[in-house]
Amino acid sequence: MTAESAAAVASTRPVRFETLTPAPADGSTRARLGRLDTPHGAVETPMFMPVGTNATVKALDPDDLAEVGAQIILANTYHLYLRPGHERIARLGGLHRFMGWDRPILTDSGGFQVVSLGDLRVIDDDGATFRSHLDGSTHRFTPEHSIAVQEALGPDIAVAFDQPVPPHASTRAEVAEATARTLRWAERSLAAHDRPDQALFGIIQGGLEADLRADATRAIAAMAFDGLCIGGLAGDETSAQRAAALDVVVPILADDARPRYLMGLGSPLDMLDAVHRGVDLFDSVLPARIARNGTLWTPAGRLNMRNARFLDDPAPVQDDCPCRLCRHHSRAYLAHLFRADELLAYRLATCHNLTYCLDFMGRIRTAIAAGTLPDLVRDLTAGRAMQDPAPTPASDTQAGAKGG
Ligand SMILES: [Zn+2]
Repeated sequence: MTAESAAAVASTRPVRFETLTPAPADGSTRARLGRLDTPHGAVETPMFMPVGTNATVKALDPDDLAEVGAQIILANTYHLYLRPGHERIARLGGLHRFMGWDRPILTDSGGFQVVSLGDLRVIDDDGATFRSHLDGSTHRFTPEHSIAVQEALGPDIAVAFDQPVPPHASTRAEVAEATARTLRWAERSLAAHDRPDQALFGIIQGGLEADLRADATRAIAAMAFDGLCIGGLAGDETSAQRAAALDVVVPILADDARPRYLMGLGSPLDMLDAVHRGVDLFDSVLPARIARNGTLWTPAGRLNMRNARFLDDPAPVQDDCPCRLCRHHSRAYLAHLFRADELLAYRLATCHNLTYCLDFMGRIRTAIAAGTLPDLVRDLTAGRAMQDPAPTPASDTQAGAKGG
C-alpha cells in the first residue's frame, strides 16, 4: 500500500500507531518509540501485555493491574469462547465491562490454543475442528467464526485466525503448508471483520525458513491490517534462530507505519533483544506463571522464594521496587506465604514480577528516547549467560489450551 493510501486508511481506523522516535538512520538499532491510540486509551511502545486468559490476569484485580503499570492486556479467545461463552459476555456488555477493565484489550484468535490441543484437533483448509479440553465437546473454528467471537467479546484489537507450528520441530513442508493456509485465513479474517470500533491485526508465520518468512511478511503487509503480529516464535527455537527470523521480517517492514507484535515472548532480556531488532509489542504468561511458582525476578537475577534461606531474610525482594510486595513485606514473609500455601503469595509475587517486567519496558523506552538503547543492550546482555542459561520452552511462555 502507498504512503498516501495508508495514511488515508489510518485516519479512519479505530487504532492509530504513531512513531515518536524512529529507528536511527545509522542502523545501530531498529528500536523505535511509539504510541498506539485505541478506543480505551493510549499504549506506549515498546510495551508488554500481561495475559488475562480467563478475563483475569491470575491472582490480580484491575486495580492491581493498573498499579503494576499495565496499559493493555491480552485475553484468550479460545478460553472465553468455551467458558463463559462469547455470546454471554456480549450480553453482559462486552469484555471490558465484564472484567471491570476500562483500558485497552487485545484478544488472540484462538489459533495457538487450538493447535496446542494436539490429538484433540483436526485442521483442514476451511478451519479447525477440536474437542474442548474442559468437557470433550466438539467445536469448530474457522477464520469467520474466530472473528465473530472476537467481535462479540469486543476488545480494542482482534487478531486474524492462523495456524502456528512449533518453529524448531516442524519440517519445511509442514511450515510451508501452515504458512500458506495462514495467508488464506488472513484474507478471510479481513473479509469477515466489520466491527468499526475494533482494529484487526494480521499474523506473519513462516517458521524458521527465511524465504517462507519473507514471503509471508510481504503478503500480510500487503493486506489492510491495522498491525502486524509475528507468530510461530517464542517456542522451541533458540535465541539465535529467533533473532534470524526477526532480521528477515523487520527490514521488510522498515517503511511500514504499523505496529509489530511478537506473540508469546515474555523474558525481559529476550524482549530487549527483540525491541533492538524492531519489535513494538509483546505478551506472555511467563512473568505471572513463574511468580506463582515462587520465582521472582530482580536486577541481580532470579530468587526462588521456596528456598529455606529466605525464611529469615528481613529484606524486601528488591530494594527500589515500587510494587506492593516490596513496599510492605519482607522476603521472609513471602517465603512463609508460599510454604503455607497462602493465596496472598500468588497476588504479591505476581504484582512484583509484572512490575519488574513493565518497569523494564519503561527503561527500554527511556533508552530509546535518549538514543542509548545499544548501550543498554550491551550492558545487560553481558551478564545474561549467568542469569538465564536456557531458552524458555513455549509451554512456559504462552497460554495453551490447558490454561494461562
Ligand atoms: Zn517488587
